[in-house]
Amino acid sequence: RRKLYNQVQEAKGIVFCRCRPLSKEELSAGYATVVDFDAAKDGDLGILTGASTKKIFKFDRVYTPKDDQVDVFADASPLVVSVLDGYNVCIFAYGQTGTGKTFTMEGTEQRRGVNYRTLEQLFKISRERRENFTYDISVSVLEVYNEQIRDLLATSPTSKKLEIKQASEGFHHVPGIVEAKVGNIKEVWNVLQAGSSARAVGSNNVNEHSSRSHCMLCIMVRAKNLMTGECTKSKLWLVDLAGSERLAKTDVQGERLKEAQNINRSLSALGDVIFALATKSSHIPYRNSKLTHLLQDSLGGDSKTLMFVQISPSEHDLGETLSSLNFATRVR
Ligand code: ADP
Ligand code: MG
Repeated sequence: RRKLYNQVQEAKGIVFCRCRPLSKEELSAGYATVVDFDAAKDGDLGILTGASTKKIFKFDRVYTPKDDQVDVFADASPLVVSVLDGYNVCIFAYGQTGTGKTFTMEGTEQRRGVNYRTLEQLFKISRERRENFTYDISVSVLEVYNEQIRDLLATSPTSKKLEIKQASEGFHHVPGIVEAKVGNIKEVWNVLQAGSSARAVGSNNVNEHSSRSHCMLCIMVRAKNLMTGECTKSKLWLVDLAGSERLAKTDVQGERLKEAQNINRSLSALGDVIFALATKSSHIPYRNSKLTHLLQDSLGGDSKTLMFVQISPSEHDLGETLSSLNFATRVR
């Protein structure tokens, strides 16, 4: 655990894999599990690709269905300290719809996820352990759907298109979006709830809509060192990505086709950016999608990235599972 903690704090890119339990429906349909956790403690995940074939994927950590929200957050929490130290950080969940992206990031009221725990920790550390600093924390909640940015905290709908601009000090931002100042975790909870309910507005099926859009929480931390007067600004992105599944050919028409193309485009853009960073390419293609453009300050440079690859254990999802694991392997 200690070793992993240091690793997460020091590395620029970390990839965790989390597998959800078989659902009731999968159990009653008799689907078998294709996942082998024998070497999970070493970060190895085995996938049974056939009757006697197994493929091994390597991660910084593998979570089995038995690991809970507390275990997951314990390993992600060093990044909270990094944010208070002035680093930009991006934590995101990638995977097929139904594999637990929202469960990991948002969680439920009883089993709260990374978003809530991160903010809780941010307040805790900034209060208890940093006497010579003051912190201003604010939160924005955005959704990217069909390459358009929507402000989920806006109280009145604006007809003006939200665009990404680069401020003089190099920071990327979206002029006009709401930045809600939050002073404690209770206020955060209210803001997150407001964001969630705004997501549902205008869509007749909330779950479907959320599987086709990226939900992005941006936390801005402005720190002031009271001894030196120095101010720093850091940004933490918490992202619940659109589902990575490919559509059945018969499904792909009209609006659905456009949606699918936009999802593919932004997820491949994300993969391309992380891959370009990992291979130290001279050109990092941030501008190929709204998603990567928004995340620009928190991907690459001095920033730290944590990706959760979410998978299903069911044989029925084997194809999508392999495709998610290959994506993760490519960017690791
Ligand atoms: P996604 O956001 O990737 O579409 P969800 O987070 O909505 O997936 O998860 C799908 C279902 O599986 C939900 O009912 C969720 O509560 C459940 N689930 C996901 N991960 C876990 C887990 N680790 N433990 C228990 N239930 C989980
Ligand atoms: Mg979801």
